[in-house]
Amino acid sequence: MEREELPVDVLFVGAGPANLAGAIRLMQRIEKHNEAIASGEAEGEAFDEPMIAVIEKGSRVGAHQLSGAVLDPKALDELFPEWRSMDDFPVERFIERDEMIFLTNGGQFKAPWVPPEMNNHGKPIISLGRFCAWLAEKAEELGVMILPEFAGTELLWDGETVIGVRTGDKGVDKDGVPTDAFEPGNDITAPVVILGEGPRGHLTRKLVERRGLDEGRNPMAYEIGVKEIIELPEGSITEGFCIHGLGYPLDMGTFGGWFLYSMEGDKVCLGLLVALDAKDPHMDAHLLLQRLKTHPYIQGLLGQGKVTRYGAKTVTIGGWSSVPQVYTDGAMIVGDSASFLNPFRIKGIHLSMKTGMMAAEAAFQAMVQGDASAAVLKGYDTALRASWVADEMTFSQNFHASFEGGVISGAIKWGLQYLFGPGSAIKPFAADHEHMQKLRAFYAKGPQVPEAIPFDGTYLMSKLDDVFLSGTQHDEHQPAHLKIVDTEVCATICREEYGNPCTKFCPAQVYNMVDSEETGRLEMQVDFANCVHCKTCDIRDPYQVITWVPPKGGDGPEYAIM
Ligand code: SF4
Repeated sequence: MEREELPVDVLFVGAGPANLAGAIRLMQRIEKHNEAIASGEAEGEAFDEPMIAVIEKGSRVGAHQLSGAVLDPKALDELFPEWRSMDDFPVERFIERDEMIFLTNGGQFKAPWVPPEMNNHGKPIISLGRFCAWLAEKAEELGVMILPEFAGTELLWDGETVIGVRTGDKGVDKDGVPTDAFEPGNDITAPVVILGEGPRGHLTRKLVERRGLDEGRNPMAYEIGVKEIIELPEGSITEGFCIHGLGYPLDMGTFGGWFLYSMEGDKVCLGLLVALDAKDPHMDAHLLLQRLKTHPYIQGLLGQGKVTRYGAKTVTIGGWSSVPQVYTDGAMIVGDSASFLNPFRIKGIHLSMKTGMMAAEAAFQAMVQGDASAAVLKGYDTALRASWVADEMTFSQNFHASFEGGVISGAIKWGLQYLFGPGSAIKPFAADHEHMQKLRAFYAKGPQVPEAIPFDGTYLMSKLDDVFLSGTQHDEHQPAHLKIVDTEVCATICREEYGNPCTKFCPAQVYNMVDSEETGRLEMQVDFANCVHCKTCDIRDPYQVITWVPPKGGDGPEYAIM
């Protein structure tokens, strides 16, 4: 098959904050270099027409971006020191009120003290989708080529060196057979490939596995974040506020929390994070979010509201101890794909941006030297270890491991580390899916039947109502992008031992057990068109038989302002 080859100098895979900040920093660096050559301040060759490309699987930049998000502007201050005076900067509000609330079953109390690391006063609340679209505009103004609807499906190799990325074919039917509309994917070749695909990156996993980049590291660990935008009656919101919450609806054995931020106009975003190492095989983050909205405290604040947008995404919480080797011959890994998120602060955008910017410096050195070997790209790792990213992440390096035994013991262990320092030893933890308990063990005292939630399609949303609000669309004439290697496992052992947890933990109701006339039993049906690309199934499935792969470029959620 003839594939078009598109050679570029540096290829960024994924238009998230890490790669967009990286592409901008690379162009800034090239501009400076060219100016120094032109003025005679430096010797060497100018880069007249550098080809720097960013590919993105979404229909446009921001379509697949979802986060809290209160931005720590540390990296942005370095990228655009003047951002506060830029008229087009997409801020929702600046935070004037910052609180931490603990919810009990029916009651609440406010934390008397908030650690300084959690203090967000004066920081901007952003929509990550809008922020990334803004970064993309700045990158394009500098000459970066942004290519939406390009899903990277394979890494291209020369021996053990990465030399580019193949993008997905379009126009194949559900059995993978080319149709009349067939368009083969492109081979985008580049001496330097920078992977910033977000959590559980498809290409990143392949790279890490093939090059053994996670040797001696803890596995990656994750939370699922589900989030809704709620519109309140006019005049309800008068200030920028940010409330972080713990407790209800999570039990004391499940790590997680919730957040509520005000946005532009009379909108708020309400989100819930639940660790994917939850023991309960019936853990359902979407249902828990609805339950949170029935709590009197939340209902009092938001009960008059109407849900207008929904989304879900995983977040890396393994921290520093899960960060793999971030460079190899021809490639580097940045942002969430490499676990750059501070699990204590649940903040990662600033860390992602800074890692992208440091990788860009190493890519620039590779361009100057005409050498993108691991020896040159190691400059990224050296800069990383000397940076504030390492300082921040080292402090919380054992945060996730502390909570292996539950929330109460974890809070004590972490409290001691907070006061006396994390110690130098990295504490081990197991992969998320290994923590799920079988039904018989978790529900040893008998099944629990929680109170039913009266979904109303306005404030209390069913999963399918919410999926509609995520704007998700997939061409159904393509192979399912959720690959289950053995559906016999679903119909037999998984049903018996765990009660098919994917039918609960998937926040988009993709997995359904349906009666089959043919076999006379319940069989797995995968409604892949609903998938919001959160990757939870790939991570939490107890038998690890599900793999998420990118669907046709452009398909998936349309998050807009999430
Ligand atoms: Fe997330 Fe998997 Fe469900 Fe898609 S199918 S929404 S990736 S859990």
